[in-house]
Amino acid sequence: MVLGARFGGSATIVWLRRYFSPQELAITVVDQWHTMVYRPGLVKALLAPPDQVLKRATVPLIPYWQRRHIQFLHDTVVGLDPERQEVYTATHPPLPYDVLFIATGSTPRWDTVPGLDLYRQGICEGYLARHTAALSRRNPAGRFVFAAGPLLASPAWRPAIQVGCECPLIEAALFWDAYLRRHQIRDRAEIWLITPAPALAQDAGPQAQQLVHQLLRRRGIHVVTQAVYQGVSDRTLTVNRDTLRYDHMVWIPPQGGARWLLGTGVDDGYGWVPTDPYLAHPRWPHIYAVGDIVSHSWPKMGHAAMRQARIAVGHWAWRQHKIIAPPSPFEPEVFWIMDIEPGCSLFSLSNVFYGGRRDFARISHMAYAAKDLFQWAYVRTRGALPVMP
Ligand SMILES: Cc1cc2nc3c(=O)[nH]c(=O)nc-3n(C[C@H](O)[C@H](O)[C@H](O)COP(=O)(O)OP(=O)(O)OC[C@H]3O[C@@H](n4cnc5c(N)ncnc54)[C@H](O)[C@@H]3O)c2cc1C
Repeated sequence: MVLGARFGGSATIVWLRRYFSPQELAITVVDQWHTMVYRPGLVKALLAPPDQVLKRATVPLIPYWQRRHIQFLHDTVVGLDPERQEVYTATHPPLPYDVLFIATGSTPRWDTVPGLDLYRQGICEGYLARHTAALSRRNPAGRFVFAAGPLLASPAWRPAIQVGCECPLIEAALFWDAYLRRHQIRDRAEIWLITPAPALAQDAGPQAQQLVHQLLRRRGIHVVTQAVYQGVSDRTLTVNRDTLRYDHMVWIPPQGGARWLLGTGVDDGYGWVPTDPYLAHPRWPHIYAVGDIVSHSWPKMGHAAMRQARIAVGHWAWRQHKIIAPPSPFEPEVFWIMDIEPGCSLFSLSNVFYGGRRDFARISHMAYAAKDLFQWAYVRTRGALPVMP
């Protein structure tokens, strides 16, 4: 059984079906949405007509599941009993499993900053991106604040991280800058980027950090780091005890673990799932977790989720004697393509934050085309493209 059907869950299903035919393995997937939104494509709503952007970023999954003989349950997971090997949902009877892959991602916790809620605008879901783009265009003048909420995780995570995936927020600020320049109204707006991290692009490596820093300075974008939020009102944001007046805000809200996992004995006490480097639960051998939900400061990114899915499934297939050797364990590394403006992106590959030495970053047209092409191929194949190594 697979819980969650976006980057991590979809890649898990693709790999399960590569190893096991429908006769060998019945697969059930549970998700609260029956379409997948390709989230990296959403930031483009700040540049191009939002409906067009959403159409390009929406993946209808049901026909795909049917073709692959996968049972899809459109439902919300509300609990789990690892002893009985059962999953509980809002509307179906208890669902027994032989092996469980948890890929339900992180949980937006708008409620953890006083006065903050999803009507303050965001970009993490289709409806939020559409709303944000429409509101910003209606009145493109004044102060725009792009704010990342903190990651609400165990203080034991090493290396410590303060935010999840910041990339889309930087992209959104740069795209908005590009939009205003294109319409020759940049001088009527001020753009602020606010993060709880000590530096923007914290885990992306020194070279990428330096390029991001230079880029934002050249574009006249103000940056606030080490942000601690005290509250939000209709016109002001209080951060680090200073009050900042705003005209528009765009949030990546605080991210927490899954509340339905609390008290199940499966999470780390904060709603995140501990795993070994093969993504297997250290206590419950029939449980794996992949993607943003894992209790590690590994990159909270689509690329990492897809790599983890391959390793988790390979490891389980090896335990089932389907393959003769286990896969290599997961090693965290940031693989990042950050769009800057139409036709131009920053590509970076780095494991320095995780103690390695690899560090590469370059701004190029090719990177923009590659990211665009990846989205096209992902949406077209419903995530079944040759999954990255
Ligand atoms: C705007 C934006 C842009 C991004 N850009 C990039 C990028 O350029 N590159 C990159 O690598 N990463 C990017 N990311 C990060 C990337 O999207 C995430 O890391 C990735 O989506 C994590 O995948 P996941 O499968 O672990 O979790 P998710 O994508 O969060 O998927 C979890 C799934 O589980 C379902 N679910 C959750 N709880 C329940 C429940 N209780 N019951 C039923 N279903 C449930 C959800 O509906 C969802 O479908 C971006 C993120 C955002 C928000």
